Amino acid sequence: MKVLVAREEGPYERRVAIVPELVGRLVDAGLDVVVEAGAGAGALHDDSAYEAAGAAVTADEGLAGADVVLSVQPLDENRVQHLRRGVVTISFLPTSQRLALVRALRDAGVTAFAMELVPRISRAQAMDALSSQALVAGYRAALIAAERLPRFFPLFMTAAGTVPPARVLVLGAGVAGLQAIATARRLGAQVEAYDVRAAAAEEVRSLGARFVELDLPSLEGEGGYAREMTEERARRQRELLAPYAAAADALITTAAVPGRQAPLLVEHSTIASMKPGSVVIDLAAESGGNVDGSRPGEEVTIGRALVWGARNVPSLMPVHASRLYAANVTELLLLMTRDGVVAPDFSDEIVDGTCVTHDGAVHHRYTSDLLGEVG
Ligand code: NAD
Repeated sequence: MKVLVAREEGPYERRVAIVPELVGRLVDAGLDVVVEAGAGAGALHDDSAYEAAGAAVTADEGLAGADVVLSVQPLDENRVQHLRRGVVTISFLPTSQRLALVRALRDAGVTAFAMELVPRISRAQAMDALSSQALVAGYRAALIAAERLPRFFPLFMTAAGTVPPARVLVLGAGVAGLQAIATARRLGAQVEAYDVRAAAAEEVRSLGARFVELDLPSLEGEGGYAREMTEERARRQRELLAPYAAAADALITTAAVPGRQAPLLVEHSTIASMKPGSVVIDLAAESGGNVDGSRPGEEVTIGRALVWGARNVPSLMPVHASRLYAANVTELLLLMTRDGVVAPDFSDEIVDGTCVTHDGAVHHRYTSDLLGEVG
């Protein structure tokens, strides 16, 4: 079967779904890999590297002859029209924000998989693209904070005097937050962190950071995730966190609740009270923002603080973001491949949970409910 690695466009999209070093695994599974010319360029992979790894490179659009299409962003509605019925696509696909595209995939008879929907069970860890990209984003967030801050991160004791370490506050200690903490610690900052899940406290401490204890109940939900807060708790949490934010040199926010808008954690007035030269990195800016006033893809000034709103941060590190994403996609594809044939088995909970459309219907229940469909 022919697996096409699609070329993607756009100033923010610099990742690729398969890197040359993983082509061999697909070829060994009996698949033919075809790469649209230039597909890997944004992640610094030349066409010749794909050819050397055993893939064919096509200068034309390869969709018409493909059995499987791999990409980072989903194909748009125009490109979906070129797919044959029964084609399998694997990409990120934020279904609730892309309902028109979900309809187009359904009507084209495409079997579409969304990497966001990979269940968080231990057997699926190697396919977990949300975690792999959050790792990249968290690391990068700490570096951006260090680079934008007009002072040192580490403690220095010099003949010219002692420089105290920067104080970094991280809100949300999931995959991205823990990586931001670890990176800021490696750079020598003094780090504090808060998360609504009590289980995060131990992980924060194990990285040498201090866990901020607030006089609020823990909010552990299904599958170890956070639950949405009531507006009253959210208000109280913002109030209690305000003095910690005001004392920080750098604030990095990473909080999210699956399937919901990002919670608002920091008020405009709190940012305005931060010290001159403070830096705020809002990794949740694209999904509503943890910080009041942050804007995705922009740097704004609030009071005397610089507020950096994230937009597609993994694409700022396309080499490793692609390498990790490609490994996640490869694992999912190989899970569905037997003897060179890709045949999704819906009795497998990973296949079942990750599929959005199949055989002319919307397979993902939450999305089909959003579309007002039955089943
Ligand atoms: P996420 O991106 O959904 O959220 C990021 C963090 O924000 C979470 O830690 C969450 O608790 C926190 N948060 C939400 N609302 C908040 C608020 N109001 N204030 C402060 N913090 C808030 O989560 P994630 O990083 O993808 O993962 C969260 C959990 O899932 C972690 O325990 C992680 O270890 C676990 N996980 C498990 C698997 C697996 O088993 N395969 C894979 C990945 C993550």
